[in-house]
Amino acid sequence: MTVDFIKLRQKMVEMQLAGRDIRDENVIEAFLQVPRELFVIEKYRYNAYDDSPLPIGYGQTISQPYIVAKMTELLNLCKNDILLEIGSGSGYQAAIASKLCKFIYSIELIPELAKFAKDNLKKAGIDNVKVVCGDGGFGLKEFAPFDKIIITAAVEKVPLELFNQLNDDGCIVVPEGPMHTQQLVKYKKLKNKIDKEIYFNCIFVPLRGDKGFKE
Ligand code: SAH
Repeated sequence: MTVDFIKLRQKMVEMQLAGRDIRDENVIEAFLQVPRELFVIEKYRYNAYDDSPLPIGYGQTISQPYIVAKMTELLNLCKNDILLEIGSGSGYQAAIASKLCKFIYSIELIPELAKFAKDNLKKAGIDNVKVVCGDGGFGLKEFAPFDKIIITAAVEKVPLELFNQLNDDGCIVVPEGPMHTQQLVKYKKLKNKIDKEIYFNCIFVPLRGDKGFKE
């Protein structure tokens, strides 16, 4: 079977992103540049552009394209930004963000997925993302501070360490709430005050590790 992934990608952008409320031209351009089919497991290759999350093994998922786009748009990335991502998964979110900022540190708890993300990013020719294997609940002190932070797993409450590792004028975009329903939230840090904006309801796989869900 031959599949025209470029066409599928354009259609995904048109229908699922621009056809909804994704307006940032740079975000749209990033989605057109990154081959999502490189970030899914073989079994789902032909579903890469579906309007849904997909399993990537180990009970984890690559997020739905729209969610990746919305979170990226909310980050409001600038070309000199250093971004911390917690939850590398497939590496796709990092790949999209890599087109819009200077450098990304992405931390992943599951060693096999850290390798999966690394390999996928390499296949996509992306060289401004460093994937680190570890517990992102503590942030990544050795490379802090960060201009922006994105958490791609659900947290009950954002760990304080992450606010401490965030530059002034920075933000954290995160699905926050109990295990089975969260809200997409943007925290803005300005002169050491934290401002909270709530967007819509969403469901993410839970953050694990020391600061994560235990059940
Ligand atoms: N951003 C990913 C989707 C991530 S799914 C993508 O674009 O594909 C959430 C990921 O967070 C999973 O891979 C999971 O293993 C990871 N995770 C869960 N708890 C974590 C923790 N404490 N530290 C780092 N990663 C964690």
